[in-house]
Amino acid sequence: MKLAVVGTGYVGLVTGVCLAEIGHHVTCIDIDEMKVEKMKKGIVPIYEPGLSELMNKNMAAGRLSFTSSHNEGFAGAEVVYIAVGTPQKDDGSANLTYVEQVAVTIAKTAKNETIVVTKSTVPVGTNDRLQTIINQNKLSPIKIEVVSNPEFLREGSAIYDSFHGNRIIIGANTEEAAQKIAEINKPFGIFIYKTDIRSAEMIKYASNAFLATKISFINEIANICERVGADVEKVAVGMGLDQRIGSAFLKAGIGYGGSCFPKDTKALIQIAGNVEYDFELLKGVVNVNRKQQRILLNKLRGIVGNFEGKKIAVLGLAFKPDTDDLREAPSILITNELINGGAQVYAYDPIAIENAKKTLNSSIIYVEKLEDALEKADAALILTEWSEIKNMEISLFKTMKNPIVLDGRNCFSLVQMQESNVDYHSVGRRVVR
Ligand code: NAD
Repeated sequence: MKLAVVGTGYVGLVTGVCLAEIGHHVTCIDIDEMKVEKMKKGIVPIYEPGLSELMNKNMAAGRLSFTSSHNEGFAGAEVVYIAVGTPQKDDGSANLTYVEQVAVTIAKTAKNETIVVTKSTVPVGTNDRLQTIINQNKLSPIKIEVVSNPEFLREGSAIYDSFHGNRIIIGANTEEAAQKIAEINKPFGIFIYKTDIRSAEMIKYASNAFLATKISFINEIANICERVGADVEKVAVGMGLDQRIGSAFLKAGIGYGGSCFPKDTKALIQIAGNVEYDFELLKGVVNVNRKQQRILLNKLRGIVGNFEGKKIAVLGLAFKPDTDDLREAPSILITNELINGGAQVYAYDPIAIENAKKTLNSSIIYVEKLEDALEKADAALILTEWSEIKNMEISLFKTMKNPIVLDGRNCFSLVQMQESNVDYHSVGRRVVR
């Protein structure tokens, strides 16, 4: 089938590439012309494992192309996917400007009957609103129907998730439209759950809010573990053995970040607030996460006093491993506080440094090897569990002025650390010597 995907960010580009891989003819559209020029040359503008190979394979097969012209991209497309950003506004609600702009463009550009599939995460009721916008802006009486198809991929394993996800959610007003989108997705071989549009929109928010709740829950348990002498990793294993709980998302650390959990939790609080419902539990989850991002800073202050003139090694900047995305990463708050406190921050990240330079405080000194960050440092903070960091030689910490390590991602086993002379502090567990 001929398809168009609007927006080539983490979701749009992966969606376009994977739909091409299962045999569809896909045109990806983005208003960022520089990005489009790069993609036309086979260059992937983001870091996502496996994406470059799959993109180039499908371009070579003639199933995948790129354009900055909506007109060109929509020509002949039976289905148009919307995958543009829905960033957070100052009040926590989702900014729908980009999604609405695309709806207007589709209404004014589409020349044949079209199904519009919203992949972007949008508050409940948005797709109905998009349908109204399209109906009001249509230039001809062709049928354009909006369907909700929220995305669940995870950055860092987006390709894998597209082919091995747990479910595909399709929210539609008509069985005909739902069936057409189900047909498109059939080759993925993933269970398809068809529902109404508003429930589909809510499934996305409820799922992210629930996962964020699990993270904040285990982080609170971790904080208590530290005080009562229990080990949160053992607690998580024991809890996870209960199938009603499950072991996923029970990893204690310095809190969640990224482009989804922080904004989607806040947006759901807003969605509830708009119908005069106080989502107290989720407000707690958000507050716990905010507090958790500061935990290493508080511990560091307790150990080294003030930060003035101290060399601090920061290992890992991306919000999680295997991505170059820094959106809402704990590294933003942590490096800012360190620099405001007068520290010299030496930062290492295997992939995210280019994005970090655009996002983080300009005083940060970036190094290509983690050894260079550690040498003569007064303390090291681990913010992302990259495999390079998890598998580093512990002896490298010996090159620090003081081998004080605050590990926000529990990268090392306590046994490993017990045998070293590192003053090691992690989350929810303690080295007993
Ligand atoms: P992104 O910011 O990485 O990419 C958005 C892209 O859309 C940009 O390249 C931008 O240039 C383009 N764009 C904006 N307006 C446009 C227009 N009018 N026409 C064409 N292109 C336009 O966003 P993302 O991270 O891919 O997220 C997209 C949506 O998917 C969001 O709603 C997000 O919440 C949701 N989502 C994201 C993830 C994730 O892991 N990133 C996972 C699931 C769902």
